[in-house]
Amino acid sequence: MSRFDAIIIGAGQAGPSLAGRLTAAGMAVALIERHLVGGTCVNTGCMPTKTLVASAYAAHLARRAADFGVVTGPVTMDMARVRARANAVVENARTSVERWLQAMPGCTVIRGHARFEAPDSVRVGDDRLSAPRIFINVGGRADVPPLPGVDSVPHLTNSSLLALDRLPAHLVIVGGSYVGLEFAQIYRRFGAQVTIVEKQSRLIAKEDDEISQTIREILEREGIAVHTSAECIALAPGSAGVAVSVSCAQGPPKVDGSDVLLAVGRRPNTDDLGLERAGVATDARGFVQVDDSLATNVPGVWAMGECNGHGAFTHTAYNDFEIMAANLLDGERRKLSARILGYGLFIDPPLGRVGLTERQARERGRPLLVGTRPMTRVNRAVEKSETQGLMKIVADAETRQILGAAILGPGGDEAIHGILDAMNARTPFTELEWAVPIHPTVSELIPTVLRDMKPTGPTSGSAPAR
Ligand SMILES: Cc1cc2nc3c(=O)[nH]c(=O)nc-3n(C[C@H](O)[C@H](O)[C@H](O)COP(=O)(O)OP(=O)(O)OC[C@H]3O[C@@H](n4cnc5c(N)ncnc54)[C@H](O)[C@@H]3O)c2cc1C
Repeated sequence: MSRFDAIIIGAGQAGPSLAGRLTAAGMAVALIERHLVGGTCVNTGCMPTKTLVASAYAAHLARRAADFGVVTGPVTMDMARVRARANAVVENARTSVERWLQAMPGCTVIRGHARFEAPDSVRVGDDRLSAPRIFINVGGRADVPPLPGVDSVPHLTNSSLLALDRLPAHLVIVGGSYVGLEFAQIYRRFGAQVTIVEKQSRLIAKEDDEISQTIREILEREGIAVHTSAECIALAPGSAGVAVSVSCAQGPPKVDGSDVLLAVGRRPNTDDLGLERAGVATDARGFVQVDDSLATNVPGVWAMGECNGHGAFTHTAYNDFEIMAANLLDGERRKLSARILGYGLFIDPPLGRVGLTERQARERGRPLLVGTRPMTRVNRAVEKSETQGLMKIVADAETRQILGAAILGPGGDEAIHGILDAMNARTPFTELEWAVPIHPTVSELIPTVLRDMKPTGPTSGSAPAR
C-alpha cells in the first residue's frame, strides 16, 4: 500500500492544476490517468475541434474570396495537412502538460485505471494507494444510446471521427446540439455532404427560438440538410453505407449516408470507478453528487469537472479546481452556486452565451426587459460581409441586473465577455449604458441594446428578432 496526502483520479482540466497547488503546499500527490494526459478537451474535444473550425473557416473564406474582390483558383482540401495541423496542436498541448507534471516536485503520475477499494483507497492494476483526500476528475465520454440498429452498422463518436483518415462522402449526424453542429459545419466546409437528424423540434433546443432558428438558417444556407422532430431514429446498413430512419414530421423518412456520427450527449466515466465500494453517491445518470463545495457524501472525497454534472465545459471543470483550491488552501468559502455560466458554440459565426435564456428568465415570473439587434445593423458585421445572427440581452426590469445574453455573430464568443464580466460584477446594466466602446466592433452595440431594452409580454422570445 502506497500512502499519499492526496490522490487525484484523472488528468483532465482540473486534476493537474489541483496537483500543482497541493504539491506547492507540501503534499505528496498521486495523479492517476488511464489514457491521455489532458483529457477530453486537449485530445478529443475543444482543441482538435477548434483547430478544425479554423481550417474550415479558411476554406469557407477562400470560397467566398470573390465577394471581397480577391481572385483565387478552385479551392480544394488537403485533409492530410488539415489533420497534421490539428494533431500538432493537440500533441504540443498534451506534451506540455505531461512535462509540467513530470517536473512537479511531490507529484507521482501513475498510468492506469483507478478503482475505489474503500473511501480512502484505490487500486491501479496490482498497486493499492491510500490518502485522506481523494479527488475524482474522471470526465465523460460520448453517450451511445440504444437506438434500434445501433449495433448493425459502424458508428462514429467525436473521438473516432477525429481519428478518421478520410473525408466522409455523406456524414449523417444524429444530434443537433453543440458537438453535432460544430462537426456539421466543419465537415460541410471540408466538402462532405452533411445531414443533421435531431429528435427535438428545433436545433440546440436549450436556446431561445430565434437563436435556434437563425443557426438552422446559417447551416442550411451552406447546404447542410436538417431534419428535426425525428421521433424514431434507427440505424441500418444502407446502399451508401448507413441508412438512418428519421420518421420525422418534415422531409424524407430515411437518410442514406456513408457514415454516421452519434452526437447525442455525454455520460460520466463513473460506471467503472468502483464508487459503490467507497459508498460515493451518484444520481440516476451516474453523475457524482456533490454539495456546493464539491464534496461528495463521503468525507474526504470530492468530485470536479464534467463527472459531477455541474457543467460540461473546460472552464467549468477548471473553475471547480479553483473553488477546490481556494477552499482547501486559501481559507476561502467559494461556492459552486455562485458561478455564472457562460459558454460558446463554435460554429461560424460563433454563438457566445451567458446566464439565462429569455425562456428561463420568464419562468422566474418577474418582469423582464429584453433588447435585441440583428447583425445586419452592426457595422462591423456589415463591413465583414458576415451579417447572419443577432444579439439579445435579458434583464430584470426592477433590479436592472442582466440575467442572460446571447451574441450570435462575428466575434460573438469574445464579445459576450463584456456582459459576462458585468454579470459577475453584479452591476446594474444602467452602469454600462454610457460606456464608450471601440468602433467598429460588435461589442460597441451592447450599450445601444441596453438603452433600447423593452418590457416584453409572455409570448415574446418566440418571434424571430429580424
Ligand atoms: C467534441 C467536443 C468539443 C468540445 N469543445 C469544447 C469547447 O470548445 N469548450 C469547452 O469549454 N468545452 C468543450 N468540450 C467539453 C470539454 O472537453 C469537457 O467538458 C472537459 O474536457 C471536461 O474536463 P474534465 O476535467 O471534467 O474531464 P476530462 O477532460 O474528460 O478528463 C478526465 C480524465 O480522466 C481520465 N479517467 C477517466 N476515468 C479514469 C479512471 N477510472 N482512472 C484513471 N483515469 C481516468 C480520462 O482518461 C481523462 O483523461 C468539448 C467536448 C467535446 C466532446
